[in-house]
Amino acid sequence: MRRLLLASLLIFVFWPLVHAAPPAKPPVIEVPNADNSAEQLAKHYVVLVSIDGFRYDYAKLYGASHLDAMAKDGASAPGGMLPAFPSVTFPNHYTLVTGLYPAHHGIVAMSFYDPARKERYAFNDAKTVADGSWYRGVPLWSLAEKQGMRAACFFWPGSEAEIAGKRPSYYLKYDDTVPDDDRVDQVVEWLKLPAEKRPHFITLYFGEVDHAGHEYGPDAAETRAAVRHVDGEIGTLRSKLRKLHLPIDLVVVSDHGMAKEQGDWMDLDQYADFSGMQTAGALMYPDSEEAAAKLYAKLRIANGKFTVYRQNRMPAELNYTGEPRIGDPVVVATGPYSIRVHGPDDPTKSHAPNKGVHGYDPSVVPEMRAIFYAEGPDIRKGEVLKPFENVGVYPFLAEILGLDAPATDGNASVLEPALIAAH
Ligand SMILES: [Zn+2]
Repeated sequence: MRRLLLASLLIFVFWPLVHAAPPAKPPVIEVPNADNSAEQLAKHYVVLVSIDGFRYDYAKLYGASHLDAMAKDGASAPGGMLPAFPSVTFPNHYTLVTGLYPAHHGIVAMSFYDPARKERYAFNDAKTVADGSWYRGVPLWSLAEKQGMRAACFFWPGSEAEIAGKRPSYYLKYDDTVPDDDRVDQVVEWLKLPAEKRPHFITLYFGEVDHAGHEYGPDAAETRAAVRHVDGEIGTLRSKLRKLHLPIDLVVVSDHGMAKEQGDWMDLDQYADFSGMQTAGALMYPDSEEAAAKLYAKLRIANGKFTVYRQNRMPAELNYTGEPRIGDPVVVATGPYSIRVHGPDDPTKSHAPNKGVHGYDPSVVPEMRAIFYAEGPDIRKGEVLKPFENVGVYPFLAEILGLDAPATDGNASVLEPALIAAH
């Protein structure tokens, strides 16, 4: 009896404690990279923030006052920044830091198959995410480290892998539960390090606006609340950065926007036979030219929610060709529809499409357009930019940091108007 009482007391005392404890913060991983070189010590700093799924018009729509203030104090693109196709998270984050279209940097979708490797990459597979052999290009943090400048990533697709022979000096394993305040505080801590250790290029990532947009739709009160919350984090970050009295350029972008989903799942396997074939989402990988031609013929006469192309006949403006990881043929949705080859094998795991969706061609579904804001010592005050492709961000940031950048798909002239001369 006494034992039982003790046991129940213990449970009473410890159970709520255990459950009330905040989730353990993942540790910052430190890489023994060289200190900042003498040349790099004199350079400015860039904090690159991504707000996943922040549509180009959300700030105006939902009153994001801190982002509005950034537009006034710096440069912005009120008509949006154009994501690369497909307008999804991993391909576009990696495009932003490499200046390469997805077909060129290799991360062509959230999940895909590589017919040459006979292996699959998936955004939610910790092993492939951290395996540098999947990634091409030279991400900005690797470019910086190669040239004697330290970098740090508080989350960014690709940042957990060694790419182009380098890793950022500081990074973390992705964990969605880390509170946004902690993310901001860590970035500020990095900027308080002694100058020789202090990273000059830092990434920071917020996921909440994308989550709310998917679950409730872009027009929902919950999405407005998420926008206001993350805008508040931007406000906190701005005021904390100002107090450091360092020459910091703050750049806030998103990977893509969000559209209201229309209709139910469109399963492609009602039109053609995919049995025994590798597939990933709506991507398909027949193992012969004959099989690819057959799929194309069947899907071409299917209903009007998509257009199907042979991979070598993709519209040039999508820049989505020449990479076997894309599969063949390629189905391109003609509206905000949820298309896949087939539903889950286990029908109990089936669920309705999300209320908010993305992944579409921004010239067909304008809600895909993303945001761009920049302010700081290198940025022109009040500069209003016309919509531009996000491959332009890489040469722009390399120029601010004074790094020698390789040729990419991005053109430095695109964001030149945002820069104060003398570069
Ligand atoms: Zn998303």
